[in-house]
Amino acid sequence: MTNAPENLHILAVHAHPDDIEFQCAGTLLRLRQLGCRISVATMTPGDCGSAEHSQDEIAAIRRAEAAAAAEILDAEYTCLEFRDLSIVFDNDSRRRMTEFLRRTKPDLIFTAPPVDYMHDHEITSALVRDACFNASVPNYRTRQWDPAPPANKIPWLYYVDPVEGTDHFGNRQPVDLIVDITEQFDRKFQALACHASQREWLQRQHGMDEYTEAGRRWSSARGEQVGVQYGEGFRQYVGHPHPTSNLLAELLGSAAKSVET
Ligand SMILES: [Zn+2]
Repeated sequence: MTNAPENLHILAVHAHPDDIEFQCAGTLLRLRQLGCRISVATMTPGDCGSAEHSQDEIAAIRRAEAAAAAEILDAEYTCLEFRDLSIVFDNDSRRRMTEFLRRTKPDLIFTAPPVDYMHDHEITSALVRDACFNASVPNYRTRQWDPAPPANKIPWLYYVDPVEGTDHFGNRQPVDLIVDITEQFDRKFQALACHASQREWLQRQHGMDEYTEAGRRWSSARGEQVGVQYGEGFRQYVGHPHPTSNLLAELLGSAAKSVET
């Protein structure tokens, strides 16, 4: 059976260290428990996430924090080495993302939603969707060192929630699936807590000491929608040329609750 969990490679790509932990770590833990191979990638090393360290210093700290969080998820971690507030949709970025997908050959991808509170997130979303298509096009050259062969399939694609779940106008963004992560929540919380520098930075920047509490509140709000303690919401991309079967729901069975939109 080709879709047996142990044959599947799940990849989560988001902009910054900690985005993945906030939005889909519980689901990744569930998929890992089923036997899937898990990889996580951040576009940047979070090099603008500090008021006291230089870009290189904070980048080194945050790469290490992201790697520690990935270890809790039993996932492989890659930093794609873009830079904070400098993720743009250009041909160089498109080639780099395409090369990454050709090399990692994921079966299912989680990424940032198309509409979110900041450009880094939205451009990451666009680059991932674009690269899913481009990776399979044989004549598309990535111009990277020792390029990987073209992909032979298009992965399933799921968008995670935007920050605070809203669009640019404060409207709640719909999801079509909420995964019950109640059992996984403690480990998700541990993974989130690995990002110690961000707890401190947000406290200084926004005067709030609620980094992990925000994660708890959001998971709790999504869980409440489907009558469980903690949840994570997803929206599947079902446009051409992605597979339209709901692999995530198939894999997770009763832990995946569909939501009427
Ligand atoms: Zn982010």
